[in-house]
Amino acid sequence: MKIGAQIRLPKLPMFIALLAFAGSAVAADSDATRQLKSRNAEFNKDIIQVSDSVYTAVGYGVSPVSMIVGQQGVVIIDTGIDVASSKEIRADFRRLADKPVQAIIFTHGHGDHTLGASAFVDTPDVQIWARQGFGHEQQTLERAGILIQKRRGEMQAGFALSAEQRINNGIAKAYWPNRKGGVFAGDHHVAPTHLVESGREKVSVAGLDLELVASTGETYDHLYVWFPKERVAFSGDNFYKSWPNLYAIRGTPYRDVREWANAVDRILKERPVAVVAGHTRPVIGEATVNETLTYYRDAILFLFDKTVEGINKGMTPNQLVEYVVLPDKYQNLDYLRPYYGNPEWAIRAIFDGYLGWFDGNATSLFPLSDKAEAERIARVAGGTDALLGSIETAIEEEDYQWAAQLCDYVLTLQPNNKAALLHKADALTGLADEILTATARNYYLSSAIKLRKLAGGT
Ligand SMILES: [Zn+2]
Repeated sequence: MKIGAQIRLPKLPMFIALLAFAGSAVAADSDATRQLKSRNAEFNKDIIQVSDSVYTAVGYGVSPVSMIVGQQGVVIIDTGIDVASSKEIRADFRRLADKPVQAIIFTHGHGDHTLGASAFVDTPDVQIWARQGFGHEQQTLERAGILIQKRRGEMQAGFALSAEQRINNGIAKAYWPNRKGGVFAGDHHVAPTHLVESGREKVSVAGLDLELVASTGETYDHLYVWFPKERVAFSGDNFYKSWPNLYAIRGTPYRDVREWANAVDRILKERPVAVVAGHTRPVIGEATVNETLTYYRDAILFLFDKTVEGINKGMTPNQLVEYVVLPDKYQNLDYLRPYYGNPEWAIRAIFDGYLGWFDGNATSLFPLSDKAEAERIARVAGGTDALLGSIETAIEEEDYQWAAQLCDYVLTLQPNNKAALLHKADALTGLADEILTATARNYYLSSAIKLRKLAGGT
């Protein structure tokens, strides 16, 4: 099955998409919407006992927070997205073990895993562990003065959407964090006191022996935590139940796809009986963990190797996304479905990560400006009114991607063309309805809201 066939689910014909319900017509959910909604069970609020001494709080905010109970105190792994939800977790953890937090360990520097930290700082001498280079991704962008990822991140998360529109973000429930600034802002209030430089650092704290292993994957500041006594691994975002976000549409420096597969492999080689994921619920049971991580690693490697094969045949990114087809044995696994990341984006990112923007086609060396291209397309079509006619036809035929592309031509020439603004909003809403990948869905719908505002509607 082609990747595109998997991620763009067919839309129901209009006549069955409208159901008479309680006297009014209610649009039925598309397959993608229904599947995304059914995912919400993964985000129910819960504290899961993972092993004798390990408890993981899920569904409070957007990322799990774990507690390991030792003789003299507890260790916290990742601290959630905001202090409000993490205070709730702290209170619930106290009911299970009323002992002081002696160490906090960050698997990486993303705000959704760190910004709740102050809820766990019981005493000023709490050890705070992270990998050297903590916050690398955000700092790389900030050092260059690049800020747009915050706004794009909010669109990918869908903060401007209504609760009904948003559903979830694919790996976490729809949550509006109670804090100032964007989720991806780098305002860490609690700084690490201890850094893991490279390799494996053995740490004894609270009567617990833990191993922190530097392991680049999603980011260059990732580590995983290994608790040998109970054979539990805490993977950070190098593993969660979804196709991994090998490229984030909010915009990030290249994420090393091959290293990500290696990071999964390192955890696999520990032979864990449980793995606490960076998002979604933990995977428990040696055989299940082994099978899950094996497929996860192999699927990433397959995509990487096949992309490189295509690159070496001289393919462009647009050709590669047709060429690289994930085998059914991966596509059929729920934990590899593109709820959050999307294989097509990863293929493009690999190309760009190694070869940069030039696709290899001489035509692309100095392309026409958007305006020059739009003028010529309008001329071929017979004017902008003819283009608008084609847009209407495309929308009627539910050819939403084409409709959106045609709208861009009209809007390049006439940025305030109300019909084109509204048609594009409709086209993006149609695309949102068909896509399983929640970040794309949120981005489409957030864009549609902006377009409708520009058109003067609501
Ligand atoms: Zn995360």
